[in-house]
Amino acid sequence: MKPATIAAALLLILGVVPAQQPVPAPFDPDWVKPFPPFRVIGNIYWVGTWDLSSYLITTSEGHILINSGLRETVPQILQGIEILGFKISDVKLLLATHAHFDHVAGLAELKKRTNAKIVLSRAEAELFKSGGKSDFLFGNSPKAYFETAPVDRTLADGEKITLGGTTLTAHLHPGHTKGATSFTTRVRESGKTYRVGIVNMGSINDGVTVTGMPGFPDIEAAYRKTFRDQKALDLDIFLASHAGQFNLHRKYQPGNRYDPERFVDPAGYRAAVARMEASFLAALAKERTKK
Ligand SMILES: [Zn+2]
Repeated sequence: MKPATIAAALLLILGVVPAQQPVPAPFDPDWVKPFPPFRVIGNIYWVGTWDLSSYLITTSEGHILINSGLRETVPQILQGIEILGFKISDVKLLLATHAHFDHVAGLAELKKRTNAKIVLSRAEAELFKSGGKSDFLFGNSPKAYFETAPVDRTLADGEKITLGGTTLTAHLHPGHTKGATSFTTRVRESGKTYRVGIVNMGSINDGVTVTGMPGFPDIEAAYRKTFRDQKALDLDIFLASHAGQFNLHRKYQPGNRYDPERFVDPAGYRAAVARMEASFLAALAKERTKK
């Protein structure tokens, strides 16, 4: 049993939390632990923390930032952008892979600091505008709430976003949330074209029933769509919402020289998707035998 599970069990015994209320993942110290910014490939840079991904994509017409991390980690992101030699005021678009607090709680503050436009998938825009309160799992957990801000543009499945010669394609990969989104793009580097994916993995939070939730009756179909689409996605460069999901720390240590091949890992991507799908199918089978 994980310490968090023991703590949750104790709280249950003490009657502090009602049995059915899902509790957001414990605040992971790796979420706030600093990590030096670095160039991933081409015009894509890491400005996140040790574990929370934030990607800066630079263009001649301004920059795109994907994922804000927590409210507490915004200063690290802003500092990272400056250390890399870019201007905070040049950030024009703020995107996110999904609207849980560990990826969007800093968006409102970043919007104030940059005046950039917030762009989210339609379903994620709803969740973001509710400040986390409309989440099918964490909606009654104030610890998972965050400051919200107006959403300037929403994205449909397959829609493209273009800025300064860079085009990102939004892929709806729901399940983890209703509007979870992955982004793909192509980077031309040293005479080669790399297919890059910033993928929102189909992980399942504690407390989720994949056969259906009151606030997300078609969650099973959502996860199935995600695994089907992710298995069909051919990537060279595998990036994700959390560093641990694509083994950043095994592939890169601070000070390593820039190498466009460093994050090339199509096999690692396929294995990560297969692991997530296996967990989903196992959860599904377990729930069905209980019924
Ligand atoms: Zn999440």
